[in-house]
Amino acid sequence: MNPPTRDARLLAMQVVERLTAAGHQAYWAGGCVRDLLLGHIPKDFDVATSAKPPEVQKLFRRTVAVGASFGVISVIGGPGLTIEVATFRSDGTYSDGRRPDQVTFSSAEEDAKRRDFTINGMFFDPAKDEVLDYVGGREDLARGLIRAIGDPALRFREDKLRLLRAIRFASRLGFGIDDETYAALCREVDSITLVSVERILAELRQMIEHPSRVRSIEMLWSSGLFPRIYPELVAASYDRRQLDHSLAVLGFSQHAVCFAWGMAALLASIETTQARSLVRTILHRQRASNDDIAKADWLVSHRDLWRDWVAKPTHALKRVLAHPAAADLFDLAEATERAELGLADQVDQLRRQWGAWTPSELDPEPLVTGKDLLDWGYSAGRIFKEILETVRDKQLDGELDSRDEAEAFIRRRWC
Ligand code: ATP
Ligand code: MG
Repeated sequence: MNPPTRDARLLAMQVVERLTAAGHQAYWAGGCVRDLLLGHIPKDFDVATSAKPPEVQKLFRRTVAVGASFGVISVIGGPGLTIEVATFRSDGTYSDGRRPDQVTFSSAEEDAKRRDFTINGMFFDPAKDEVLDYVGGREDLARGLIRAIGDPALRFREDKLRLLRAIRFASRLGFGIDDETYAALCREVDSITLVSVERILAELRQMIEHPSRVRSIEMLWSSGLFPRIYPELVAASYDRRQLDHSLAVLGFSQHAVCFAWGMAALLASIETTQARSLVRTILHRQRASNDDIAKADWLVSHRDLWRDWVAKPTHALKRVLAHPAAADLFDLAEATERAELGLADQVDQLRRQWGAWTPSELDPEPLVTGKDLLDWGYSAGRIFKEILETVRDKQLDGELDSRDEAEAFIRRRWC
């Protein structure tokens, strides 16, 4: 277990001990119990307790009321180390399709029943080493099933984010979705638009970055969620054949990938100019970061380098390969060549060429700067860019080696 997880586990244990010593019920809850039972390392540990928020705050020195209206208090154990402690609760009615209008504090059993899926609805008592399972989570874990707790139609109607969570857990864990739960999910797909784009993006990001991304996208497609999430692709007549090509590319990278890579691969079957415009439009609408948008756009625009790199001048090649996302571009190119041709000969050759250049050959310090041009009597303006780019290209091509040579060249060409 890595040190941050060990520290979180220790703190989660201490939190439960202190709450219990003060006469409250307290357990580890939800995702961490699921992960422990699966033998996975939990991302984080959450605690559920009968103690009310003010009682939790009294017992711990450093706390933050992160979700006061839901009864969630963060206990801070050190830098970057917090445990969320939530009072057992039942959720009231949901009128916005996402969050309960009000919550009432209740029992452990009620708290289990307000959770989304049976495998996420268990508690664990670390002192007694005992699982508390009011919802049949252990059986579903053993069967490999995602099953809504209670009436699936109602549970999806309450909170539409659960539509995406069901698919994310199913694909990530390699589980099936219980028939009734899946039927209810498919009936509810139209209402996914009630979830904020930020939350949708956060779910999609987790799906796409994970090695199980092909299964996630398959399930988004077969459930009918895909066109609701990517209306731009419907408008572009994105069809099953195009999806299959993209899935082949996506599937050739078995490891975790960055989100921008995944988006570029998803659009692998769309013509480059259109794909660039689509990836920017989709990610902008989903409020992705500017870095993600720029990276996805860059990957799409250079994704065919492996096909025609031999004909490219050295400077053009070096400019692309010096980019910080070049390694991702190679992954994308390799996945594409393998999906199309079953091998990656062209990409391997290009990779060898890339590796043969030292970092200073690939991206050397510029021979000339704008300040030099001013010193030499050129006035700032459009010509600056032309001079600097031309000198840079000649430097990358190995035709200019020193500042003196560059100066002589500039004075000759732009006298
Ligand atoms: P992950 O490994 O992705 O963190 P998780 O199951 O821990 O998975 P969280 O979003 O951290 O997911 O939520 C913690 C727990 O809170 C869940 O296991 C589940 O019991 C409950 N929960 C989270 N989101 C919902 C929801 N939308 N509806 C009902 N219960 C939820
Ligand atoms: Mg979690």
